[in-house]
Amino acid sequence: MPKEKKEIILYGIPGSPGISHGAVFRFLHGDIEVPHYQVSESEQPSELSRFQDAVEMTRDQIAEIRNAVSKNLGEKEAGIFDAHLLVLEDKALFDDVEKDIKQTGDNIEKCVYRVTQRYHDYFNQLEDEYLRERASDLKDISKRLLGNLVGVTASGTAFLGEPRILVSEDLSPSDTASLDRSKILGIATDSGGRTSHAVIMARASGVPAVVGLRGLTEKLSEGDSILIDGFEGLAIINPGQTTLFRYGKVGLRRKRIKDLLNEEASLPTVTKDGTKINFLANADSPEEVISGIENGCEGVGLFRTESIFLRKNQIPSEDQQFEDYSEIVSAAGGQVITIRTLDLGGDKILDSIGREKEENPFMGFRAIRYCLRNPAIFLDQLRAILRVSAFGKVKIMFPMISGVGELVRAKEFLFTAKRQLTDRGIEFDEEIEVGCMIETPSAVTICDMLADEVDFFSVGTNDLVQYLLAVDRVNNQIAYLYEPHHPAVIRALLHIFQVSKQKNVEVTLCGEIAGDPHFLPLLIGLGLDSFSATGTLIPELKFFGRRFTTEEAQELKDRITKMRRSSEVKACLKAFYDDRVSELMN
Ligand code: PEP
Ligand code: MG
Repeated sequence: MPKEKKEIILYGIPGSPGISHGAVFRFLHGDIEVPHYQVSESEQPSELSRFQDAVEMTRDQIAEIRNAVSKNLGEKEAGIFDAHLLVLEDKALFDDVEKDIKQTGDNIEKCVYRVTQRYHDYFNQLEDEYLRERASDLKDISKRLLGNLVGVTASGTAFLGEPRILVSEDLSPSDTASLDRSKILGIATDSGGRTSHAVIMARASGVPAVVGLRGLTEKLSEGDSILIDGFEGLAIINPGQTTLFRYGKVGLRRKRIKDLLNEEASLPTVTKDGTKINFLANADSPEEVISGIENGCEGVGLFRTESIFLRKNQIPSEDQQFEDYSEIVSAAGGQVITIRTLDLGGDKILDSIGREKEENPFMGFRAIRYCLRNPAIFLDQLRAILRVSAFGKVKIMFPMISGVGELVRAKEFLFTAKRQLTDRGIEFDEEIEVGCMIETPSAVTICDMLADEVDFFSVGTNDLVQYLLAVDRVNNQIAYLYEPHHPAVIRALLHIFQVSKQKNVEVTLCGEIAGDPHFLPLLIGLGLDSFSATGTLIPELKFFGRRFTTEEAQELKDRITKMRRSSEVKACLKAFYDDRVSELMN
Protein backbone atom coordinates (compact mmCIF):
# COMPACT_ATOMS: atom_id res chain seq x y z
CA MET A 1 0.00 0.00 0.00
CA PRO A 2 1.42 3.47 -0.85
CA LYS A 3 2.50 5.44 2.19
CA GLU A 4 0.12 8.29 3.13
CA LYS A 5 1.61 11.76 2.77
CA LYS A 6 2.13 13.69 5.98
CA GLU A 7 -1.01 15.45 7.19
CA ILE A 8 -0.55 19.18 7.94
CA ILE A 9 -3.22 21.20 9.78
CA LEU A 10 -3.37 24.98 9.38
CA TYR A 11 -5.68 27.35 11.21
CA GLY A 12 -7.15 30.42 9.55
CA ILE A 13 -10.37 32.40 9.44
CA PRO A 14 -13.70 30.84 8.42
CA GLY A 15 -14.62 32.58 5.16
CA SER A 16 -17.61 30.71 3.82
CA PRO A 17 -19.31 27.72 5.49
CA GLY A 18 -18.93 24.23 4.10
CA ILE A 19 -16.48 21.37 3.93
CA SER A 20 -14.64 20.37 0.83
CA HIS A 21 -11.91 17.95 -0.11
CA GLY A 22 -10.08 17.73 -3.41
CA ALA A 23 -6.98 18.25 -5.46
CA VAL A 24 -5.21 21.58 -5.27
CA PHE A 25 -5.46 24.17 -8.00
CA ARG A 26 -2.72 26.76 -7.49
CA PHE A 27 -4.08 30.10 -8.54
CA LEU A 28 -1.61 32.84 -9.10
CA HIS A 29 -2.61 36.30 -8.02
CA GLY A 30 -0.54 39.36 -8.80
CA ASP A 31 2.75 39.25 -10.58
CA ILE A 32 4.63 36.08 -11.32
CA GLU A 33 8.08 35.70 -9.91
CA VAL A 34 10.14 35.33 -13.05
CA PRO A 35 13.03 32.86 -12.73
CA HIS A 36 16.35 34.15 -14.04
CA TYR A 37 19.35 32.06 -15.07
CA GLN A 38 21.66 31.62 -18.03
CA VAL A 39 21.24 28.89 -20.65
CA SER A 40 23.92 27.62 -23.01
CA GLU A 41 23.68 28.22 -26.75
CA SER A 42 22.86 24.56 -27.34
CA GLU A 43 19.87 24.82 -24.95
CA GLN A 44 18.37 27.81 -26.74
CA PRO A 45 16.35 25.80 -29.34
CA SER A 46 14.67 23.77 -26.59
CA GLU A 47 13.97 26.98 -24.66
CA LEU A 48 12.33 28.41 -27.79
CA SER A 49 10.28 25.30 -28.28
CA ARG A 50 9.08 25.62 -24.64
CA PHE A 51 8.02 29.12 -25.60
CA GLN A 52 6.11 27.81 -28.65
CA ASP A 53 4.31 25.28 -26.45
CA ALA A 54 3.40 27.99 -23.94
CA VAL A 55 2.05 30.19 -26.74
CA GLU A 56 -0.13 27.36 -27.99
CA MET A 57 -1.37 26.51 -24.52
CA THR A 58 -2.13 30.18 -23.87
CA ARG A 59 -3.93 30.48 -27.19
CA ASP A 60 -6.14 27.48 -26.34
CA GLN A 61 -6.92 28.86 -22.91
CA ILE A 62 -7.86 32.26 -24.28
CA ALA A 63 -10.04 30.70 -26.97
CA GLU A 64 -11.85 28.73 -24.23
CA ILE A 65 -12.32 31.87 -22.17
CA ARG A 66 -13.54 33.73 -25.21
CA ASN A 67 -16.21 31.06 -25.77
CA ALA A 68 -17.28 31.08 -22.15
CA VAL A 69 -17.48 34.89 -22.03
CA SER A 70 -19.42 34.97 -25.29
CA LYS A 71 -21.90 32.48 -23.85
CA ASN A 72 -22.24 34.15 -20.45
CA LEU A 73 -21.81 37.85 -21.18
CA GLY A 74 -22.23 38.26 -24.93
CA GLU A 75 -20.22 38.55 -28.09
CA LYS A 76 -19.21 42.16 -27.49
CA GLU A 77 -17.46 41.37 -24.20
CA ALA A 78 -15.86 38.30 -25.76
CA GLY A 79 -14.34 40.54 -28.42
CA ILE A 80 -11.83 41.83 -25.85
CA PHE A 81 -10.04 38.50 -26.13
CA ASP A 82 -9.60 38.79 -29.89
CA ALA A 83 -6.89 41.36 -29.26
CA HIS A 84 -5.12 38.83 -27.00
CA LEU A 85 -5.29 36.16 -29.66
CA LEU A 86 -3.89 38.52 -32.27
CA VAL A 87 -0.84 39.32 -30.14
CA LEU A 88 -0.14 35.61 -29.70
CA GLU A 89 -0.41 34.98 -33.40
CA ASP A 90 1.92 37.84 -34.27
CA LYS A 91 5.25 36.55 -35.59
CA ALA A 92 6.97 39.70 -34.30
CA LEU A 93 6.57 38.37 -30.75
CA PHE A 94 8.39 35.14 -31.54
CA ASP A 95 11.11 37.00 -33.50
CA ASP A 96 11.71 39.46 -30.66
CA VAL A 97 11.92 36.70 -28.07
CA GLU A 98 14.34 34.76 -30.26
CA LYS A 99 16.49 37.85 -30.73
CA ASP A 100 16.48 38.45 -27.00
CA ILE A 101 17.60 34.93 -26.06
CA LYS A 102 20.41 35.08 -28.59
CA GLN A 103 21.62 38.42 -27.30
CA THR A 104 21.35 37.78 -23.58
CA GLY A 105 21.66 34.00 -23.16
CA ASP A 106 18.97 34.21 -20.49
CA ASN A 107 16.32 31.54 -19.81
CA ILE A 108 13.14 31.82 -21.83
CA GLU A 109 10.94 33.13 -18.99
CA LYS A 110 13.24 36.10 -18.51
CA CYS A 111 13.29 36.85 -22.26
CA VAL A 112 9.49 36.63 -22.57
CA TYR A 113 9.12 38.86 -19.57
CA ARG A 114 11.54 41.45 -20.97
CA VAL A 115 9.97 41.54 -24.44
CA THR A 116 6.35 41.72 -23.29
CA GLN A 117 7.30 44.33 -20.70
CA ARG A 118 8.87 46.41 -23.48
CA TYR A 119 5.68 46.17 -25.54
CA HIS A 120 3.64 47.05 -22.48
CA ASP A 121 5.75 50.12 -21.68
CA TYR A 122 5.50 51.28 -25.26
CA PHE A 123 1.68 51.11 -25.32
CA ASN A 124 1.40 52.55 -21.86
CA GLN A 125 3.02 55.84 -22.78
CA LEU A 126 0.87 56.47 -25.89
CA GLU A 127 -1.52 59.43 -26.01
CA ASP A 128 -4.30 57.48 -27.69
CA GLU A 129 -6.54 56.08 -24.98
CA TYR A 130 -7.59 53.03 -26.98
CA LEU A 131 -4.01 52.03 -27.71
CA ARG A 132 -3.02 52.72 -24.12
CA GLU A 133 -5.62 50.21 -23.00
CA ARG A 134 -3.80 47.58 -25.02
CA ALA A 135 -1.04 47.82 -22.41
CA SER A 136 -3.26 46.03 -19.90
CA ASP A 137 -4.05 43.36 -22.52
CA LEU A 138 -0.33 42.79 -22.87
CA LYS A 139 0.11 42.49 -19.14
CA ASP A 140 -2.58 39.85 -19.09
CA ILE A 141 -1.02 37.87 -21.92
CA SER A 142 2.43 38.13 -20.43
CA LYS A 143 1.15 36.85 -17.09
CA ARG A 144 -0.64 33.97 -18.75
CA LEU A 145 2.37 33.05 -20.90
CA LEU A 146 4.73 33.16 -17.95
CA GLY A 147 2.26 31.19 -15.86
CA ASN A 148 2.23 28.45 -18.47
CA LEU A 149 6.02 28.50 -18.70
CA VAL A 150 6.54 28.17 -14.96
CA GLY A 151 3.65 25.72 -14.59
CA VAL A 152 1.04 27.68 -12.68
CA THR A 153 -2.24 29.07 -13.94
CA ALA A 154 -2.17 32.81 -14.27
CA SER A 155 -5.85 33.48 -14.24
CA GLY A 156 -8.96 31.86 -12.86
CA THR A 157 -10.87 31.74 -16.11
CA ALA A 158 -8.04 29.77 -17.68
CA PHE A 159 -8.72 26.98 -15.23
CA LEU A 160 -10.47 24.08 -16.87
CA GLY A 161 -10.69 20.38 -16.08
CA GLU A 162 -11.76 18.56 -12.93
CA PRO A 163 -13.25 20.65 -10.11
CA ARG A 164 -10.56 21.40 -7.55
CA ILE A 165 -9.82 23.52 -4.50
CA LEU A 166 -8.39 26.87 -5.40
CA VAL A 167 -5.38 27.80 -3.33
CA SER A 168 -3.80 31.22 -3.58
CA GLU A 169 -1.78 33.71 -1.61
CA ASP A 170 -4.47 36.26 -2.12
CA LEU A 171 -7.64 36.66 -4.14
CA SER A 172 -9.06 39.92 -5.40
CA PRO A 173 -12.75 40.56 -6.11
CA SER A 174 -11.97 40.76 -9.82
CA ASP A 175 -10.20 37.37 -9.63
CA THR A 176 -13.26 35.92 -7.91
CA ALA A 177 -15.59 37.51 -10.44
CA SER A 178 -13.71 35.79 -13.25
CA LEU A 179 -13.71 32.31 -11.70
CA ASP A 180 -15.72 29.50 -13.16
CA ARG A 181 -17.52 28.67 -9.93
CA SER A 182 -18.76 25.31 -11.17
CA LYS A 183 -15.13 24.19 -11.22
CA ILE A 184 -14.20 25.43 -7.77
CA LEU A 185 -14.83 23.07 -4.85
CA GLY A 186 -13.49 25.50 -2.30
CA ILE A 187 -11.13 28.40 -1.72
CA ALA A 188 -8.16 28.60 0.65
CA THR A 189 -5.90 31.64 0.82
CA ASP A 190 -2.83 32.74 2.77
CA SER A 191 -4.26 36.18 3.45
CA GLY A 192 -7.63 37.94 3.55
CA GLY A 193 -10.30 38.62 6.16
CA ARG A 194 -13.92 37.59 6.68
CA THR A 195 -15.25 40.72 5.04
CA SER A 196 -12.88 40.95 2.08
CA HIS A 197 -15.03 41.10 -1.03
CA ALA A 198 -13.60 37.94 -2.54
CA VAL A 199 -14.81 36.07 0.54
CA ILE A 200 -18.22 37.72 0.48
CA MET A 201 -18.56 36.58 -3.13
CA ALA A 202 -17.52 33.02 -2.25
CA ARG A 203 -20.09 32.94 0.53
CA ALA A 204 -22.77 34.22 -1.80
CA SER A 205 -22.12 31.45 -4.28
CA GLY A 206 -22.04 28.78 -1.59
CA VAL A 207 -18.37 27.87 -2.15
CA PRO A 208 -16.65 26.89 1.14
CA ALA A 209 -13.69 29.14 1.93
CA VAL A 210 -11.00 29.53 4.56
CA VAL A 211 -8.77 32.60 4.52
CA GLY A 212 -5.85 33.92 6.52
CA LEU A 213 -4.09 30.52 6.38
CA ARG A 214 -0.62 31.97 6.71
CA GLY A 215 2.09 30.02 4.93
CA LEU A 216 -0.34 27.63 3.23
CA THR A 217 0.94 28.08 -0.31
CA GLU A 218 4.55 27.56 0.81
CA LYS A 219 3.67 24.24 2.41
CA LEU A 220 2.04 22.71 -0.65
CA SER A 221 3.86 20.39 -3.00
CA GLU A 222 2.98 18.82 -6.31
CA GLY A 223 0.13 16.32 -6.13
CA ASP A 224 -1.12 17.35 -2.68
CA SER A 225 -4.79 17.19 -1.79
CA ILE A 226 -6.46 19.50 0.68
CA LEU A 227 -9.51 19.47 2.92
CA ILE A 228 -11.00 22.79 3.95
CA ASP A 229 -13.41 23.34 6.79
CA GLY A 230 -15.15 26.66 6.25
CA PHE A 231 -17.11 26.31 9.51
CA GLU A 232 -14.13 26.11 11.81
CA GLY A 233 -11.66 27.97 9.58
CA LEU A 234 -9.04 25.30 9.04
CA ALA A 235 -7.30 23.51 6.23
CA ILE A 236 -5.74 20.05 6.26
CA ILE A 237 -3.12 19.27 3.64
CA ASN A 238 -3.13 15.58 2.64
CA PRO A 239 -5.81 14.48 5.11
CA GLY A 240 -5.38 10.85 6.17
CA GLN A 241 -8.12 8.19 6.18
CA THR A 242 -9.09 8.86 9.83
CA THR A 243 -9.54 12.57 9.18
CA LEU A 244 -11.58 11.93 6.06
CA PHE A 245 -13.79 9.51 7.98
CA ARG A 246 -14.32 12.08 10.75
CA TYR A 247 -15.18 14.76 8.21
CA GLY A 248 -17.53 12.37 6.44
CA LYS A 249 -19.47 12.21 9.70
CA VAL A 250 -19.36 16.01 10.02
CA GLY A 251 -20.77 16.24 6.48
CA LEU A 252 -23.66 13.96 7.42
CA ARG A 253 -24.41 16.07 10.48
CA ARG A 254 -24.43 19.22 8.37
CA LYS A 255 -26.82 17.57 5.96
CA ARG A 256 -29.16 16.76 8.86
CA ILE A 257 -29.00 20.40 9.98
CA LYS A 258 -29.88 21.52 6.48
CA ASP A 259 -32.90 19.19 6.49
CA LEU A 260 -34.02 20.58 9.86
CA LEU A 261 -33.73 24.15 8.55
CA ASN A 262 -35.66 23.26 5.41
CA GLU A 263 -38.49 21.78 7.45
CA GLU A 264 -39.13 25.25 8.89
CA ALA A 265 -38.40 27.23 5.73
CA SER A 266 -42.02 28.06 5.03
CA LEU A 267 -42.87 29.23 8.56
CA PRO A 268 -43.31 33.00 9.08
CA THR A 269 -40.24 35.08 9.85
CA VAL A 270 -41.04 36.09 13.38
CA THR A 271 -39.50 35.85 16.82
CA LYS A 272 -40.92 33.39 19.37
CA ASP A 273 -43.39 36.06 20.55
CA GLY A 274 -44.52 36.80 17.00
CA THR A 275 -42.58 40.02 16.26
CA LYS A 276 -41.94 40.33 12.55
CA ILE A 277 -38.33 40.31 11.33
CA ASN A 278 -37.51 41.33 7.81
CA PHE A 279 -34.88 39.21 6.05
CA LEU A 280 -33.59 40.65 2.80
CA ALA A 281 -30.82 39.31 0.59
CA ASN A 282 -27.47 40.75 -0.45
CA ALA A 283 -26.72 39.97 -4.06
CA ASP A 284 -24.34 40.78 -6.87
CA SER A 285 -25.92 38.86 -9.76
CA PRO A 286 -29.38 37.79 -10.92
CA GLU A 287 -28.54 34.22 -9.78
CA GLU A 288 -27.96 35.47 -6.26
CA VAL A 289 -31.25 37.35 -6.31
CA ILE A 290 -32.94 34.06 -7.24
CA SER A 291 -31.00 32.18 -4.57
CA GLY A 292 -32.13 34.80 -2.03
CA ILE A 293 -35.74 34.25 -2.99
CA GLU A 294 -35.36 30.46 -2.85
CA ASN A 295 -33.97 30.87 0.64
CA GLY A 296 -36.95 32.93 1.77
CA CYS A 297 -35.83 36.57 1.49
CA GLU A 298 -38.45 39.29 1.22
CA GLY A 299 -36.52 41.59 -1.09
CA VAL A 300 -32.95 42.56 -1.89
CA GLY A 301 -31.47 44.92 0.68
CA LEU A 302 -28.17 45.39 -1.11
CA PHE A 303 -27.35 44.87 -4.74
CA ARG A 304 -23.63 45.61 -5.25
CA THR A 305 -23.49 47.05 -8.79
CA GLU A 306 -19.69 47.17 -8.88
CA SER A 307 -19.63 43.39 -9.27
CA ILE A 308 -21.16 43.82 -12.73
CA PHE A 309 -18.37 46.25 -13.60
CA LEU A 310 -15.74 43.86 -12.21
CA ARG A 311 -17.08 40.89 -14.13
CA LYS A 312 -16.99 42.82 -17.38
CA ASN A 313 -13.71 44.42 -16.37
CA GLN A 314 -14.93 47.67 -17.86
CA ILE A 315 -17.40 50.47 -17.28
CA PRO A 316 -20.62 49.50 -19.02
CA SER A 317 -22.70 52.06 -20.92
CA GLU A 318 -26.10 53.26 -19.68
CA ASP A 319 -27.87 50.85 -22.04
CA GLN A 320 -25.75 47.86 -21.00
CA GLN A 321 -26.44 48.68 -17.36
CA PHE A 322 -30.12 49.06 -18.12
CA GLU A 323 -30.10 45.51 -19.48
CA ASP A 324 -28.20 44.19 -16.46
CA TYR A 325 -30.46 45.90 -13.94
CA SER A 326 -33.55 44.79 -15.88
CA GLU A 327 -32.42 41.20 -15.44
CA ILE A 328 -32.04 41.76 -11.71
CA VAL A 329 -35.40 43.41 -11.38
CA SER A 330 -37.07 40.60 -13.29
CA ALA A 331 -35.21 38.01 -11.14
CA ALA A 332 -36.63 39.79 -8.06
CA GLY A 333 -40.12 38.92 -9.35
CA GLY A 334 -41.93 41.89 -7.81
CA GLN A 335 -39.90 42.06 -4.58
CA VAL A 336 -38.23 45.32 -3.60
CA ILE A 337 -34.65 45.64 -4.76
CA THR A 338 -32.20 48.17 -3.37
CA ILE A 339 -29.58 49.02 -5.94
CA ARG A 340 -26.42 50.57 -4.57
CA THR A 341 -24.50 52.95 -6.82
CA LEU A 342 -20.95 52.10 -7.76
CA ASP A 343 -18.62 51.28 -4.88
CA LEU A 344 -15.33 50.79 -6.68
CA GLY A 345 -12.06 51.27 -4.82
CA GLY A 346 -10.71 49.70 -1.64
CA ASP A 347 -10.17 46.08 -2.67
CA LYS A 348 -12.50 46.41 -5.68
CA ILE A 349 -10.18 47.59 -8.41
CA LEU A 350 -11.09 47.71 -12.06
CA ASP A 351 -7.81 47.23 -13.95
CA SER A 352 -9.23 48.70 -17.12
CA ILE A 353 -9.73 52.19 -15.71
CA GLY A 354 -6.05 52.45 -14.92
CA ARG A 355 -6.22 54.37 -11.65
CA GLU A 356 -3.23 55.51 -9.68
CA LYS A 357 -2.09 53.24 -6.89
CA GLU A 358 -3.17 54.58 -3.52
CA GLU A 359 -1.40 54.37 -0.17
CA ASN A 360 -4.67 53.80 1.69
CA PRO A 361 -7.20 52.55 -0.84
CA PHE A 362 -9.94 51.94 1.73
CA MET A 363 -9.68 55.55 2.83
CA GLY A 364 -9.08 56.81 -0.65
CA PHE A 365 -10.74 57.56 -3.93
CA ARG A 366 -13.60 55.15 -3.45
CA ALA A 367 -17.34 54.72 -4.00
CA ILE A 368 -19.31 57.99 -3.95
CA ARG A 369 -16.06 59.99 -4.03
CA TYR A 370 -15.18 58.42 -7.35
CA CYS A 371 -18.70 58.91 -8.75
CA LEU A 372 -18.94 62.57 -7.78
CA ARG A 373 -15.68 63.24 -9.61
CA ASN A 374 -16.77 61.24 -12.68
CA PRO A 375 -20.13 62.79 -13.55
CA ALA A 376 -20.55 61.01 -16.89
CA ILE A 377 -20.10 57.56 -15.30
CA PHE A 378 -22.33 58.45 -12.36
CA LEU A 379 -25.11 59.87 -14.52
CA ASP A 380 -25.04 56.85 -16.84
CA GLN A 381 -25.56 54.61 -13.85
CA LEU A 382 -28.24 56.74 -12.24
CA ARG A 383 -30.23 56.91 -15.47
CA ALA A 384 -29.95 53.14 -15.93
CA ILE A 385 -31.22 52.52 -12.37
CA LEU A 386 -34.02 55.06 -12.79
CA ARG A 387 -35.09 53.45 -16.06
CA VAL A 388 -35.56 50.04 -14.44
CA SER A 389 -37.56 51.65 -11.64
CA ALA A 390 -40.41 51.87 -14.17
CA PHE A 391 -40.57 48.04 -14.20
CA GLY A 392 -40.24 47.00 -10.57
CA LYS A 393 -39.93 48.16 -6.97
CA VAL A 394 -36.50 49.76 -6.99
CA LYS A 395 -34.73 51.80 -4.34
CA ILE A 396 -31.45 53.60 -4.81
CA MET A 397 -28.65 53.82 -2.28
CA PHE A 398 -25.37 55.76 -2.06
CA PRO A 399 -22.27 54.13 -0.50
CA MET A 400 -19.51 55.58 1.72
CA ILE A 401 -21.29 58.80 2.59
CA SER A 402 -19.20 60.77 5.06
CA GLY A 403 -21.02 64.09 5.19
CA VAL A 404 -24.23 65.94 4.34
CA GLY A 405 -22.59 67.88 1.47
CA GLU A 406 -21.63 64.66 -0.27
CA LEU A 407 -25.12 63.23 0.11
CA VAL A 408 -26.75 66.40 -1.18
CA ARG A 409 -24.44 66.43 -4.20
CA ALA A 410 -25.27 62.80 -4.94
CA LYS A 411 -28.97 63.67 -4.78
CA GLU A 412 -28.39 66.59 -7.12
CA PHE A 413 -26.92 64.14 -9.64
CA LEU A 414 -29.99 61.98 -9.19
CA PHE A 415 -32.15 65.03 -9.84
CA THR A 416 -30.16 65.79 -13.03
CA ALA A 417 -30.51 62.18 -14.19
CA LYS A 418 -34.28 62.38 -13.64
CA ARG A 419 -34.48 65.62 -15.61
CA GLN A 420 -32.48 64.13 -18.48
CA LEU A 421 -34.84 61.15 -18.66
CA THR A 422 -37.89 63.41 -18.55
CA ASP A 423 -36.39 65.42 -21.45
CA ARG A 424 -35.96 62.16 -23.36
CA GLY A 425 -39.54 61.18 -22.56
CA ILE A 426 -38.43 58.06 -20.66
CA GLU A 427 -40.50 56.80 -17.75
CA PHE A 428 -39.21 56.11 -14.28
CA ASP A 429 -40.51 56.03 -10.71
CA GLU A 430 -40.70 59.72 -9.77
CA GLU A 431 -41.03 58.78 -6.09
CA ILE A 432 -38.07 56.37 -6.03
CA GLU A 433 -36.86 55.98 -2.46
CA VAL A 434 -33.33 57.18 -1.77
CA GLY A 435 -31.09 55.92 0.99
CA CYS A 436 -27.49 55.97 2.08
CA MET A 437 -25.10 53.54 3.66
CA ILE A 438 -24.02 54.29 7.21
CA GLU A 439 -20.51 52.90 7.16
CA THR A 440 -18.18 55.70 8.16
CA PRO A 441 -17.78 56.94 11.75
CA SER A 442 -18.71 60.47 10.63
CA ALA A 443 -21.99 59.18 9.17
CA VAL A 444 -22.77 57.54 12.52
CA THR A 445 -22.08 60.73 14.41
CA ILE A 446 -24.26 62.89 12.16
CA CYS A 447 -26.88 60.31 11.23
CA ASP A 448 -29.59 62.65 12.55
CA MET A 449 -28.55 65.17 9.89
CA LEU A 450 -28.31 62.56 7.16
CA ALA A 451 -31.74 61.28 8.15
CA ASP A 452 -33.26 64.59 6.98
CA GLU A 453 -32.00 63.85 3.46
CA VAL A 454 -33.02 60.21 2.91
CA ASP A 455 -35.85 57.69 3.12
CA PHE A 456 -33.72 54.91 4.57
CA PHE A 457 -30.37 53.90 5.99
CA SER A 458 -28.42 50.73 5.43
CA VAL A 459 -25.72 50.02 7.95
CA GLY A 460 -22.52 48.68 6.40
CA THR A 461 -20.73 47.11 9.32
CA ASN A 462 -17.99 45.61 7.14
CA ASP A 463 -16.61 49.07 6.59
CA LEU A 464 -17.87 50.62 9.78
CA VAL A 465 -15.92 48.13 11.90
CA GLN A 466 -12.72 48.80 9.98
CA TYR A 467 -13.05 52.59 10.17
CA LEU A 468 -14.27 52.71 13.74
CA LEU A 469 -11.52 50.43 15.03
CA ALA A 470 -8.88 51.61 12.52
CA VAL A 471 -8.32 48.04 11.33
CA ASP A 472 -7.98 47.37 7.61
CA ARG A 473 -10.60 44.75 6.77
CA VAL A 474 -8.36 42.79 4.40
CA ASN A 475 -5.10 42.87 6.35
CA ASN A 476 -4.66 39.49 8.01
CA GLN A 477 -1.73 40.66 10.16
CA ILE A 478 -4.26 42.54 12.24
CA ALA A 479 -7.31 40.37 11.57
CA TYR A 480 -7.52 39.58 15.30
CA LEU A 481 -8.31 43.27 15.90
CA TYR A 482 -11.18 43.32 13.42
CA GLU A 483 -13.87 42.80 16.03
CA PRO A 484 -17.52 43.39 15.21
CA HIS A 485 -18.20 42.46 18.85
CA HIS A 486 -16.28 45.51 20.06
CA PRO A 487 -18.27 47.67 22.52
CA ALA A 488 -17.56 50.71 20.29
CA VAL A 489 -19.36 49.00 17.41
CA ILE A 490 -22.29 48.05 19.62
CA ARG A 491 -22.62 51.60 20.91
CA ALA A 492 -22.45 52.99 17.38
CA LEU A 493 -25.21 50.61 16.27
CA LEU A 494 -27.40 51.53 19.21
CA HIS A 495 -27.00 55.21 18.34
CA ILE A 496 -27.93 54.64 14.67
CA PHE A 497 -31.01 52.58 15.53
CA GLN A 498 -32.21 55.09 18.14
CA VAL A 499 -31.79 58.06 15.79
CA SER A 500 -33.48 56.23 12.93
CA LYS A 501 -36.46 55.59 15.16
CA GLN A 502 -36.65 59.21 16.33
CA LYS A 503 -36.34 60.45 12.77
CA ASN A 504 -38.70 57.84 11.39
CA VAL A 505 -36.17 56.60 8.87
CA GLU A 506 -36.18 52.90 7.91
CA VAL A 507 -32.98 51.10 8.80
CA THR A 508 -31.54 47.81 7.56
CA LEU A 509 -28.17 46.26 8.36
CA CYS A 510 -26.40 44.79 5.33
CA GLY A 511 -22.86 44.12 6.61
CA GLU A 512 -21.78 40.51 7.10
CA ILE A 513 -22.85 40.42 10.75
CA ALA A 514 -26.46 40.49 9.49
CA GLY A 515 -25.88 36.92 8.30
CA ASP A 516 -24.12 35.76 11.47
CA PRO A 517 -26.84 34.14 13.61
CA HIS A 518 -24.92 34.85 16.83
CA PHE A 519 -25.56 38.57 16.34
CA LEU A 520 -29.28 38.21 15.67
CA PRO A 521 -30.69 38.53 19.22
CA LEU A 522 -28.30 41.34 20.09
CA LEU A 523 -29.27 43.36 17.01
CA ILE A 524 -32.97 42.75 17.68
CA GLY A 525 -32.42 43.81 21.29
CA LEU A 526 -30.73 46.97 20.05
CA GLY A 527 -33.85 47.79 18.04
CA LEU A 528 -33.20 46.41 14.55
CA ASP A 529 -35.85 44.48 12.65
CA SER A 530 -34.49 44.42 9.10
CA PHE A 531 -31.49 42.36 8.03
CA SER A 532 -29.89 41.98 4.63
CA ALA A 533 -27.65 38.92 4.34
CA THR A 534 -26.29 36.39 1.89
CA GLY A 535 -29.36 34.41 0.79
CA THR A 536 -28.03 31.00 1.78
CA LEU A 537 -27.71 32.13 5.41
CA ILE A 538 -31.34 33.17 5.79
CA PRO A 539 -32.81 29.74 6.72
CA GLU A 540 -30.58 29.49 9.80
CA LEU A 541 -31.37 33.08 10.80
CA LYS A 542 -35.10 32.36 10.55
CA PHE A 543 -34.74 29.10 12.51
CA PHE A 544 -32.86 30.76 15.35
CA GLY A 545 -35.10 33.87 15.31
CA ARG A 546 -38.09 31.69 16.18
CA ARG A 547 -36.33 30.42 19.30
CA PHE A 548 -36.22 33.56 21.44
CA THR A 549 -38.59 36.39 22.32
CA THR A 550 -37.92 40.12 21.88
CA GLU A 551 -37.93 40.45 25.65
CA GLU A 552 -35.12 37.89 25.90
CA ALA A 553 -33.27 39.76 23.15
CA GLN A 554 -33.55 42.96 25.16
CA GLU A 555 -32.32 41.29 28.33
CA LEU A 556 -29.36 39.97 26.37
CA LYS A 557 -28.69 43.45 24.99
CA ASP A 558 -28.83 44.93 28.52
CA ARG A 559 -26.22 42.45 29.69
CA ILE A 560 -24.02 42.95 26.66
CA THR A 561 -24.01 46.74 26.66
CA LYS A 562 -22.37 46.57 30.10
CA MET A 563 -19.52 44.39 28.84
CA ARG A 564 -16.12 45.95 28.27
CA ARG A 565 -14.41 43.37 26.09
CA SER A 566 -15.19 41.90 22.69
CA SER A 567 -14.28 38.44 23.96
CA GLU A 568 -16.97 38.62 26.67
CA VAL A 569 -19.56 39.74 24.12
CA LYS A 570 -18.59 36.98 21.75
CA ALA A 571 -18.76 34.29 24.41
CA CYS A 572 -22.11 35.54 25.66
CA LEU A 573 -23.64 35.54 22.15
CA LYS A 574 -22.30 32.07 21.48
CA ALA A 575 -23.69 30.69 24.75
CA PHE A 576 -27.12 32.15 23.98
CA TYR A 577 -27.08 30.68 20.47
CA ASP A 578 -25.87 27.25 21.59
CA ASP A 579 -28.53 27.14 24.25
CA ARG A 580 -31.39 27.94 21.84
CA VAL A 581 -30.44 25.76 18.93
CA SER A 582 -29.18 22.74 20.84
CA GLU A 583 -31.28 20.53 18.54
CA LEU A 584 -28.90 21.49 15.73
CA MET A 585 -25.87 20.51 17.78
CA ASN A 586 -26.74 16.91 18.59
C1 PEP B 1 -20.38 47.10 4.29
O1 PEP B 1 -19.40 47.85 4.27
O2 PEP B 1 -20.81 46.57 5.32
C2 PEP B 1 -21.10 46.77 3.05
C3 PEP B 1 -22.20 46.06 3.06
O3 PEP B 1 -20.55 47.18 1.88
P1 PEP B 1 -19.28 46.48 1.19
O4 PEP B 1 -19.01 45.20 1.90
O5 PEP B 1 -19.63 46.28 -0.23
O6 PEP B 1 -18.20 47.50 1.39
MG1 MG C 1 -19.04 49.08 2.54
